[in-house]
Amino acid sequence: MKRVVVLGSTGSIGTQTLDVIAQHPDRLEIVGLAAGRNADLLRSQAAKYGVKKLALFESASDCDIPTGMDALIDLATLPEADLVVISVAGVIGLQPTLAAIKAGKDIGLASKEVLVAAGEIVMPLVREKGITMTPIDSEHSALFQCLQGYRSDQIDSLIITASGGPFRGKTRDQLVEVTIEQALNHPTWRMGGKITIDSATLMNKGLEAIEAKWLFDVPMDSIEVVAHPQSVVHSMVRFRDGSVLGQLGWPDMRLPIAYALLYPERKPNPLPRWNPVDTPCLTFEAIDNKTFNAIGLARQAIEARGTMPCVMNAANEEAANAFLRGDIGFLRITEIVERTMQEHRVEAPTLENFLKTDAWARQFARMLW
Ligand code: MG
Repeated sequence: MKRVVVLGSTGSIGTQTLDVIAQHPDRLEIVGLAAGRNADLLRSQAAKYGVKKLALFESASDCDIPTGMDALIDLATLPEADLVVISVAGVIGLQPTLAAIKAGKDIGLASKEVLVAAGEIVMPLVREKGITMTPIDSEHSALFQCLQGYRSDQIDSLIITASGGPFRGKTRDQLVEVTIEQALNHPTWRMGGKITIDSATLMNKGLEAIEAKWLFDVPMDSIEVVAHPQSVVHSMVRFRDGSVLGQLGWPDMRLPIAYALLYPERKPNPLPRWNPVDTPCLTFEAIDNKTFNAIGLARQAIEARGTMPCVMNAANEEAANAFLRGDIGFLRITEIVERTMQEHRVEAPTLENFLKTDAWARQFARMLW
């Protein structure tokens, strides 16, 4: 029996995580739930699953639930918990993740921003504590599954697939006037707002490349991204001998969630089965890196090291949310990220510098609209 805490239980991944846990009552039990600000849904989840330990990140009025970063950290380090799922919005998950690892908890990581911003300090701690970090990102779950039994020095390259988002094939001129509704209309995945915008700018693939670099301990130039509009091949590993392994399935997050929670076991589940004849035509094409420069920005950020990936992530969170509010146009998102990165002077990778830099980047980015 694994006792699970879910930080971010009311979001898209969080609610699907609770569904998956409910499908395996003999293996998984929820012992703590935390949300950003949706106290009503959090309370109803607590009642449904009989959970006593709760937390909120943002305070609501006349609320008896513990609130703030300290409350999230308390839940992440609950003595009775074995596994902490981090599915909060963005880099808010960093400090609870570090606290959970220090307390010896295994981590199911959905908030890729944690590794993007601070992988350089998170991964050494994972190794020092000997905990298991299982990715809850379809691409990284695919890579993690393909790499079972292999060492990182046997990898030639990781091939991350990208649906290409709703604007695949468009030119920069065509992207000037795109609307929020068009950007939110993802062709294959139903996800939260911020990640759907990241998918449209391809920043999601930039973030995922950095996430993969840290998770699997490979250099950035060994990570390739290829467009695959059907979203059936979730990613591939090319080994030193030239052999390529991939993981396939319908685009349904409940599969990588179940794998992460039950790892290293595989249990039967009621999810729809994929068969090759269901999608007889699987296609792949090169990414248009001239129109979409986010993956290039991610490579620059890793090359600069230190606090630069943290700056890229923070500026992107701010700019993507500004676009969602209608404050800026679509092309401004990555322009703001690039401009903020240009302004930043890299500092050493410490938690203190990451927190300081994150705040600076958000403030600087906000002055650009
Ligand atoms: Mg993904």
